[in-house]
Amino acid sequence: MRTKPASTRKPAISPTKLSTYLECAVKYRYIYIDKIGRFYMKSRAAFSFGSTLHQVLQQYHEPGAERSLTGMLSRFEEGWISAGYASAAQEQEHQAAGEQILLAYHASAEARQEELGPVETIATERTISCDMGRFKLTGRVDRIDLHVDGTLEVVDYKSGRLTVTEEEVAASLAMNCYQLILSKMYPGAPVCATIYCLRSGESATARLTEEGLAEFERDIRDVADVILDMDWLETAPVRIEHCADCDFLSRCEGEWRRQERARRLHEEPAEDEQGFSEFGL
Ligand code: SF4
Repeated sequence: MRTKPASTRKPAISPTKLSTYLECAVKYRYIYIDKIGRFYMKSRAAFSFGSTLHQVLQQYHEPGAERSLTGMLSRFEEGWISAGYASAAQEQEHQAAGEQILLAYHASAEARQEELGPVETIATERTISCDMGRFKLTGRVDRIDLHVDGTLEVVDYKSGRLTVTEEEVAASLAMNCYQLILSKMYPGAPVCATIYCLRSGESATARLTEEGLAEFERDIRDVADVILDMDWLETAPVRIEHCADCDFLSRCEGEWRRQERARRLHEEPAEDEQGFSEFGL
């Protein structure tokens, strides 16, 4: 009988995987080990809204694309994703908000071009990765710009946020992962990361220093090692503050009920044991 050759592909670790693990190891197990997320994770208006906008901005920034406002608005209408909205009224509200966002985005993109000079977008909605030995660090970036001074700027769009500070960008696990990957893909190139709030047009940029990148890399390796060495069968749910908003809550509650029944059965002595104890044996 022919046996299947063992896979030589390295496990991929992404910022989403890292933050899921750091939020809750059981959630990580359900999504990435047991792969049961599709049975529990609900469509949400925010995901659909964000995906629609991301896809319009991807096309807008593609090399050679026509960068007109009318083009953006018609792509928004054609690519609209309806899943996850609670009502037609909520969907209409988001459609109107999306149009306003694109209007403001178009105006600010033009102003930015005038302010910064020619900035070349070298990638949109692209998966980037680097080899980290035991694993591959990977992430999907919304946009990478190349500035005239050679700086590579990774830009992340946020469709739900109104404000962002430099400190928040500097503390962002995802933005730091992207900078680390870019610094390995393009050694020597200065890198920075920007979060752009689509609803308000506010943005902030941060840059990891060489020491900062080295320290971040050590932290990422430590967390990845824990994930890769984890005994997932032994990973059971424990109540934490994230449970209230978690799509897996019903599953974990079932598990807690089973644990409680098992605990009670263990605590209640069996009948014959009771009998023996009555006779002092
Ligand atoms: S309900 Fe709580 S314990 Fe269960 S997966 Fe979600 S966050 Fe983790």
